[in-house]
Parts: sequence; structure tokens; C-alpha cells
Amino acid sequence: MKPHCYHDGKIVPTEKATLPVTDLAVLRGYGVFDFLKTVNGKPFLWKEHWRRLQRSAKLLGMKIPLPEKAVREAIDRLLAKNEGEDCNIRLLLTGGVARNGLLVDEPRLYVLSEPIQMLPRKVFEKGAKVIRCAHERIVPEAKTTDYLAAVRLQKERIRAGAVEILYVVHGRVLECSTSNFFLVKDGRLITARDAVLLGTTRNLVLDLAKKAGIVFEERDVAETELASAEEAFLTATNKNIVPVVQVDDLAIGNGKPGVVTRRLMTLSADYMARY
Ligand code: PMP
Repeated sequence: MKPHCYHDGKIVPTEKATLPVTDLAVLRGYGVFDFLKTVNGKPFLWKEHWRRLQRSAKLLGMKIPLPEKAVREAIDRLLAKNEGEDCNIRLLLTGGVARNGLLVDEPRLYVLSEPIQMLPRKVFEKGAKVIRCAHERIVPEAKTTDYLAAVRLQKERIRAGAVEILYVVHGRVLECSTSNFFLVKDGRLITARDAVLLGTTRNLVLDLAKKAGIVFEERDVAETELASAEEAFLTATNKNIVPVVQVDDLAIGNGKPGVVTRRLMTLSADYMARY
């Protein structure tokens, strides 16, 4: 598929899309977005993503300039260009051009189609490494355009052979740079609820776990629990469920993807196949 961008009723190839350099997203890092995928040609968990965009915008005091129906129509127009190929969709709400350099006037909405980029198969089979970083996102409950730590640490991540950066702040395990993080202890799932983005994949995993009778706890996760966990995994729209077998030099459990993680991977693959 070729990436396209919708803005203000028009669709152009993304490489031709433009944004004023005085947009608050550029000048002040003021913007929110959401990121979803299509599965079997349909926007996956659309309602959840739309509601999260609304929540992110509200938390930053921004108004989304289009109603849900118009945004869905824009997505359908973008999907029509794909000849049935699934893709990612990015809803980007920028602060717009400010009159005095700070005052939000008219936020601008861009809807982008992007090719799906999956991690290599090996990562799902053998499990992945993550590295720690003591970063705390500003307004963590919102999907803001602030990914400074995520971008800054990419070279370090690659050097370490890791797939993600795990944010651990004052001994609390929060989330990864673009994913949520789970531990499995005594067969139960444990994941943070506060000071993290409530991921759509995270919430789906909790739903699937509930239906399968897997007990879970949403609570603060102590860094010391990494050493006693049997399993760990991360979740995100573009990664689904990735077993985590190493955090820096620390092996998680026996250093292999665990049974609970693999069970959830199967349940989520089945859910998507039926979507
Ligand atoms: N946390 C952060 C900081 C993220 O950027 C993402 C990716 N959107 C997630 C968690 C996972 O969210 P989702 O499952 O909705 O992709």
C-alpha cells in the first residue's frame, strides 16, 4: 500500500502532505494522536481508539474538529486506496497555528494510512529483551505527541539488541515506550493501571484473560517483582503480544516465553482472525 494523508476533505500521498511550521505541534510539542490497525479490512477496536483520542484531546484541552462519522468516512476513503491490504491508521490532532505563539485556536486533524510493520517472527517465538530507562511521560493517560525518550533511546535500544524501552520510575514499573507491560506471577497477570497509557491491546488482553479464567491484578508493579516473575510480555497495536524474556541483564523466569503468555497469544490471534 502507498501511505496517504487526509486533511480538510482532501487526500494526498503522505510524502506530499504539509503542516505549517508554526503549528503548535512543531513549535511547542502540543498535539495528541491515536494509532490503530485494520484487521480483515476493518478498523480494529475503532470505538476504543476513538474514545481514547477524545480523552487525550480533552486532557490537553483540545477540540477535535470533526465528528466521529466524518473521521470514519475519511478512514474509509483512505482504505479504498489500499486494494484490500491491511494497514495502520494514525489520527493526528495538532494544536494548529497559534495567534500569539501559545494560544490554541483551531486544532488540525490529519488521518494517515501507513504500512503495517511487524517485528520479526523470531521475537514472538524466542521472546524479546527490553532495556530500562527512568522516564516518566507527561500526561501519561493521554497519547500525546511527546515521545522524546522513545526517539532519543532508539540507538541505545538497537545496540542492546532490545525491542523496547521499559520505563521504570522510582522503583515502579510503568510501561514501555510504545507498549504496555505485564508480569505473570503465580499464574496471575499483573499490570500497571496508574501513570500509563491504557492501551487497547492491554485492555483486550485483560478481557480475554477474564473470559479464559486467568486472574489479573491492575496495580502498581514494583521493580523488585521483575526478579520473581515467571513470565513477562508487552502489548501494543503494532506488536500484539510479545513475550519478554530479558530486562537488561536480568532473565525473566527461565528465560523462555511462558505458558500463560503463549496462551494469551493464541487467544488474541483467534480473536483477530474472527474479527
Ligand atoms: N503505551 C504507550 C506509551 C504507547 O505509545 C502505546 C502504543 N499506542 C501503548 C502503551 C499501547 O497502546 P495500544 O495497545 O493501544 O497500541
